[in-house]
Amino acid sequence: MKYRRLGKSGLQVSELSFGSWITFGNQIEDNTSEDLMKMAYDSGVNFFDNAEAYADGASEKVMGEILKKMGWARDTYIVSSKVFFGAGGKLPTQKGLNRKHVYEACNDALKRLQVDYLDLFFCHRPDKQTPIEETVWSMHTLIQQGKILYWGTSEWSAQEIMEAHMVARQYNLIGPVMEQPQYNMLVRDKVEVEYNQIYKNPGLGTTIWSPLASGVLTGKYLNNQEDKTRLKRTELSWLSDKLLVSETLEKVEQLAGFAAEMGISMPHLAIAWCLKNERVSTVILGASKTEQLKENLRAIEHVDKLTPEVMQKIDEILQNKPKHPTF
Ligand code: NDP
Repeated sequence: MKYRRLGKSGLQVSELSFGSWITFGNQIEDNTSEDLMKMAYDSGVNFFDNAEAYADGASEKVMGEILKKMGWARDTYIVSSKVFFGAGGKLPTQKGLNRKHVYEACNDALKRLQVDYLDLFFCHRPDKQTPIEETVWSMHTLIQQGKILYWGTSEWSAQEIMEAHMVARQYNLIGPVMEQPQYNMLVRDKVEVEYNQIYKNPGLGTTIWSPLASGVLTGKYLNNQEDKTRLKRTELSWLSDKLLVSETLEKVEQLAGFAAEMGISMPHLAIAWCLKNERVSTVILGASKTEQLKENLRAIEHVDKLTPEVMQKIDEILQNKPKHPTF
């Protein structure tokens, strides 16, 4: 495993990390979650991603039990939570980035995960109902209280991240360090273009999600007969409606042919492609089975095969290389 700096911070994060969305406390049994975390940790993964909203808090509870059972030294891993969507409560005070919910979400995540502090705490989405000053002050205070070490954002625009930095600068507060955007062969603009202006200054690390586009980039939906896969779940029809469309599947079919020519698997090609981008601090893997994680962790071995010629061929298939502004 290799480690990368999380943006301008001094924190070293494993280039492959592991997350629990859909799976922990929901799709998979707790003993499988334990096997997956153990496999990840034993392979050098040092970052485990979570959120208050995942399975309405159950995902954090499962992860907390595993962390406790494993007894890994606290200085050997990084664990995150995210605030915004709430943990299932429907009342107006149970979500958002206002001071009340940010404090309560943090305290609840600490209890569920059974840790004294969160290494990373993300604002899961921007909150139009809360002044940015309130959120930045809240995050800064949590750092001063020792409850979180670094804070960041998820799916914020470059402008919103800059606004947070401007507030931090104005009041001498600690600003956001990392952003968690979707990044994979099908979704590229934010990471490849929009954030370009803020990677160096004020500085931004990225913990990218859905490297396999929820499994589509494994190629398995080209002829998937299995019922238990993510995009066959009825509650996720909004996601399969977006992803399982002919334009995407045609590209995936071509990519699968190209991966076969290269002699590597589709998951390896898709994950190695994400790792190739040096703006990516860590690629968060997801898996519902140990065989999947075992395969995905080996993507690291294939990054060097992605030569400029190979990257160009992939761009020709994808036809979605973002255009950089010329001014
Ligand atoms: P992926 O795009 O890699 O999808 C993972 C899913 O794809 C698995 O659960 C499995 O689903 C399937 N899969 C994975 N590997 C294989 C394989 N080798 N062969 C066949 N199928 C495979 O990642 P996620 O979408 O899970 O995102 C990763 C993490 O990122 C999340 O756990 C979460 O921590 C974070 N995230 C953050 C978001 C945010 O808004 N900040 C949003 C979404 C995710 P199955 O077996 O069910 O088909």
